[in-house]
Amino acid sequence: MNEKKKLGLGGKILIGLVAGIVVGAIFWAAMGPEAAGAFTAKYIKPFGDIFVNLLKFIVVPLVLLSIMDGVISMGDIGKVGKIGWKTIAYFLVTTAIACIIGLIVANLFKGAFPVLELAEDAAYEAKTSNLMDTIVNIFPSNAIAPMSNSSMLQIIVISLFFGCGILVAGEKGKALGELVSSFNEVTQKVMGFILSVAPYGVFALMVWVVAAQGPKILGSLGLVLLAAYIGYAIHVVLVYSMSVKIFAKMSPGTFFKKVFPAAAFAFTSTSSVASLPVTKECCDDMDVHGEISSFVLPLGATINMDGTAIYQCVAAIFLAKCIGIDLTLVQMITIVVTATLASIGTAGTSGAGMIMLAMVLDAVGIPPTYIGIIYGIDRLFDMGRTALNVVGDASCAVCVNEWEKEMDAKAKA
Ligand code: ASP
Repeated sequence: MNEKKKLGLGGKILIGLVAGIVVGAIFWAAMGPEAAGAFTAKYIKPFGDIFVNLLKFIVVPLVLLSIMDGVISMGDIGKVGKIGWKTIAYFLVTTAIACIIGLIVANLFKGAFPVLELAEDAAYEAKTSNLMDTIVNIFPSNAIAPMSNSSMLQIIVISLFFGCGILVAGEKGKALGELVSSFNEVTQKVMGFILSVAPYGVFALMVWVVAAQGPKILGSLGLVLLAAYIGYAIHVVLVYSMSVKIFAKMSPGTFFKKVFPAAAFAFTSTSSVASLPVTKECCDDMDVHGEISSFVLPLGATINMDGTAIYQCVAAIFLAKCIGIDLTLVQMITIVVTATLASIGTAGTSGAGMIMLAMVLDAVGIPPTYIGIIYGIDRLFDMGRTALNVVGDASCAVCVNEWEKEMDAKAKA
């Protein structure tokens, strides 16, 4: 029997990427940059725009439901509050550090990033907003408008409120909780459909980018990828080694050795959620109490994404430079806040972080269409960032486990 190997989405996207580069380079060589840019912008890029539109369409239900589901998965607020606060504090602090690392690395690389001349949106002006306005605007004054305007920060606040409301409502909230879980599952599937057309979207966008820019853009993509991986490496060495050493009193060498299977699985599957069973096993191997790992890990797979946060910061700085926007300090702080929140809103599935990047870009006035420039190589970013996300979840489980052990010992003394 002739066994045909099925090509996964990652493989198809890679083919779309390479084909897009080749076809774009042919246009560029045959017509010259200006004519090739105009032609592909008119006839080929629109197919990529369809894909980007679909991504933008799914992002609202995706965030709304995955965060509500994450809160609901905590169970009873009172019972899990104790562990919950420690877990969330760990998640928030490490993710904010991840953003800062991402911003520093990206700023060091900024000089080498290109300024592209993309005819479209040339007259686009950067939005400037001050920090206080940004904070006030996180809180919605209307329940419906944030959904229709895709105001992601407001949507996150709404989901947190309703998630907590469902928990506090107890028995009466249960039906809605189940509905949210089921709706969340369906939304994930719809996202799967949309991602399945990604290879064609990638092809169209790559043809346009390479035709308009010439193959020199490829060197820049390598550079932004390198910046992200340097950020990932610094975060692992700085934050996780230190936190497991200081809080869990575990040697970083032992931790990394034991967590390696989960990291490797995440690297290839690019899904924190799919990696959960392996991550759980690694935590069992590190003697993390089952009650703690089964609470911290699923929550982490839904809301704790340090790798994603680093990627979003690096990508935002890169794309800002590409379209000639010089970001102010307030905009950088906005990136830290939105990337932290966006990474929380990112579902633990393949490619989800790139979808949420739209929110970070929007917050600092970069048109999300430009995600197309780096979308083709998203899988390469995703492998590293998912591995980091999963290692972050395991490090949290190990630390919370130790804190609880210490509390129990104190209570007994
Ligand atoms: N793939 C990542 C994860 O599952 C999410 C992302 O795309 O950033 O953790």
